[in-house]
Parts: sequence; C-alpha cells; structure tokens
Amino acid sequence: MNKLSIKLRVTLWYSLIMIIISSIVLVIMVSFNQMLLERDFETRIVKTVDENEKRISLLYNIPHSPKDIKYFDYGVHMALYSEDGEIIEGQIPFDAITDTEFSDRELRKLSIGNNQYYIYDRKIIQWNLNVIWLRGIISVTNESYMLRSFIKANLILSMVLIVIASFGGYLIIKRALIPVEKIRITAKEISEGEDLSKRISIGSGKDEVSRLANTFDDMLDKIEQTLEKEKQFTSDASHELRTPVAVITSECEYMLDCAQDTDDLKESAQVIKRQVDKMSKLISELLTMSRMDKNTQNINFEMVDISELLTIVCEEQTKIQTDSITLTADIPENIHAMADRFLIARLFINLISNAYKYGKENGHIWISLCEDKNDITFIIKDDGIGISEENLPKIWDRFYQVDPARTSNEKSGIGLGLSMVKWICNCHKGNITVKSELGVGSEFIFKMPKK
Ligand code: ADP
Repeated sequence: MNKLSIKLRVTLWYSLIMIIISSIVLVIMVSFNQMLLERDFETRIVKTVDENEKRISLLYNIPHSPKDIKYFDYGVHMALYSEDGEIIEGQIPFDAITDTEFSDRELRKLSIGNNQYYIYDRKIIQWNLNVIWLRGIISVTNESYMLRSFIKANLILSMVLIVIASFGGYLIIKRALIPVEKIRITAKEISEGEDLSKRISIGSGKDEVSRLANTFDDMLDKIEQTLEKEKQFTSDASHELRTPVAVITSECEYMLDCAQDTDDLKESAQVIKRQVDKMSKLISELLTMSRMDKNTQNINFEMVDISELLTIVCEEQTKIQTDSITLTADIPENIHAMADRFLIARLFINLISNAYKYGKENGHIWISLCEDKNDITFIIKDDGIGISEENLPKIWDRFYQVDPARTSNEKSGIGLGLSMVKWICNCHKGNITVKSELGVGSEFIFKMPKK
C-alpha cells in the first residue's frame, strides 16, 4: 500500500468508503421496501377477497354470481371455483397453481419455479348447501418487478456516481499535489546543484499546499539572505584583518631593511602597536558577534542603576575623546532597570562614541535619560554629519559604513558598532529608532522595559 502514490491511496480509500456506504444504504432500502411490499400484498389480497366474498354470499341465488363482481382488483386475480375445482367465474392467469388445494381463510405464500405467489381462499356455502370457493392470487414476482428495476437503476446510478466522484477526486488531489511535486524538485535541484536562488513560484494560491509552497519560498529567501550575509561577513572580516597585517608586515620590513636609528624604530613600533590594537579590537568584536550568533554570550540580568552607569560612561567618553565637541547630559538620579550591566554600557559607549566620531568640529552632543511607569528611554542627539535617508536602513548591518574613508585611522570603526547595539537592544526586549538628516545631525532613541 505504501508503494502507491498519495493521490491513488486517497482515491481508493474514499471510493471504497463510498461503495460501502452505497451498499449499506441500498441493502437497508431494499429490505425496507420488500417488507412494506409484502405487508401490502397481504393486506391487499385479504381485503379484496374478503370484500368479494361478502358480496357473493349476500346473493343467495348463486351459482349465478352478480355481474358487478370484479375478478381483478388491486392487482389481485380472483376466481370462483366449484367444489370439484372447476372455474365458475373469473380467471387465474397462473397455470402452475391450478392444482393447489383450497384452504379457508389461510394466507399462504407459495414458491413455484422462480415465481412466488400469495394465495387466499374463502369458502362459500350456497343456499342448497353446495360449497364453492373464492380464490385470490397475487404474483409477488410480477409485482416486485418495479422494486427490482428500482434496485437495478439505483445500482447503476450509484456505480456511475462513484466512478465520477473517484475520477473527479483523483484529478483534484492530483492538481492540489502539483506544488508538493514542485517542492520536491526544487529541494532536489538545490541539494544537487547548491543553487539557492531556485524557487517553487506557484503564485499566490489560498489552499494549504500553495501556502506551504509560498512559506517554503520565503524560507529559501531567508536562508539565501543569511548565507549571503555570512559570506559578506567572512569576506569583510578577512578584509579588515588583512589591512593591519599588511601594514605590520611592511613596517617590519622597513625596520629590518631601512631603519636608520632608534627614532625610526620607535616610529615603526608605534605604527605596529596601533595596528595590533586595531586587530585586537576587531578580534574581540568578532568574538562577541560570534557568541551573540551562537547565543553563548553570557547575559546576566540584574537591577542596574542606569543613571549611575550612564554618568560613568559619559565621564569616560569625554575624557577619551579628543574632539572639540561639547557633551551635555541630562541624567536624573536613581533610574533603575533589569539589565546586563556590561551590555548596556557597551550600547551607551557605541552610541556616544559614534556621536563623537561623526560629529562636527565644535559641535554638540545632547544626552538624556528618562523613565515612565514601565520603560526607560535614552536619547542621544548630535549635530554631526547626519545620515542620508537611503543609508538609514543599512546602518544596522554588519560591517556597513556609510563612508569607510571618512573615519581617521585612530578612531576608525569597522561597521560592527550599531549591529551590536541592535543585538543588545533585542536582548533587553527594547526598541531603537533613528532620525537623521544629512548635514544636520542624528538622533538615536533607545527604549527598554524596566523589568
Ligand atoms: P562604525 O564602526 O563604522 O562606526 P557602526 O556600526 O557603529 O560602525 O555605524 C555604522 C555606520 O553608521 C557608520 O559607518 C556611520 O556611517 C553611520 N553612523 C553611525 N552613527 C552615526 C552618527 N551619530 N552620525 C552619523 N552617522 C552615523
């Protein structure tokens, strides 16, 4: 059975069920009709013969029966017999039962050959004490003809309907399963050719299988995008690592071949140190990213004094940053939230250092923190270079930099800061939005629940 296709199995199954149901209905209908018919025969024959017997008995001048007596009524054939079995009046068209003995008021069912009959006799005693018999006969076989025709017609009709239903059902299932076959072919093509751009593309049907196929296509889109991002990430990461390695290599070669004095050596050593610092920062950020991806980054939620943490970060940043930018912070005391101290500090640092990095000379940064019943909100605004509308959605992507050449060597980033901010925000079930205008400045708003 398992070797048969689903469409064949389903078709066979409901065809079988339909045949069983039709047969049961037919058997019940036939038995019921048979029962009703038999009861009808019995009442008809007894009633008709009895009525005729009454009429005949009333007329004492028998043997000449009155002319208005009907010898065929309600399908019952009747005849008046003399005591020695000679027909006096009426006619019985069934020769086979001529020899059957008379029996007063006894309803009998006889089977002669392939035919069945009901026989009912009434004894009539004449004025001169002569006995005559009134016999009524009804042929079950003849009368059942209608029922047999009805059964035959029903059987043929049921068979035709079952065949039409099975064939129609088979076509519907076959049509409905086309997307499944397409899914199989697509999956096979992808696994054999490793071409993730293949899609099932069956259009937007509303049935379950079409929806499954469309979900499958969406899933393939996601997988393709993720793999594309992975590839981009690996290529960007190797590129970012190659640049400092190349600088270190050339500085080492210079030190070995061309350095004249200690000053030359010191200068090269400083260049190497800067590149090593950059690499170490990159490697540490890559490690954090990888832990974030694998969900192995330790997150320790505790009640954190956000006001205190942000104040410390602001103080540190103003000390580190050498730019002529003024930072104004409005941080009310005692704002607490359940958070990971390290990660939230990282989020503040990334956003504040970006505001410095992309700020303008003698510019401003405004920071504010506030709370309501459920949430805390951190806003950082700058009057720096701003971001164009088309670049805004991309700034959260890994390694994305609007203008990589802009950041000078000492403070150059690698485009991982905001993707980390986004991840930290998600970890805290928060939400971050950005408003920015090229040449005017940017505003980042981070909101997270207190608990
Ligand atoms: P990066 O290491 O380059 O700073 P980020 O992920 O932190 O990487 O930021 C991505 C890009 O978003 C930056 O390269 C920069 O172009 C843009 N950006 C981020 N913050 C600001 C800001 N405050 N003002 C203007 N541009 C910004």
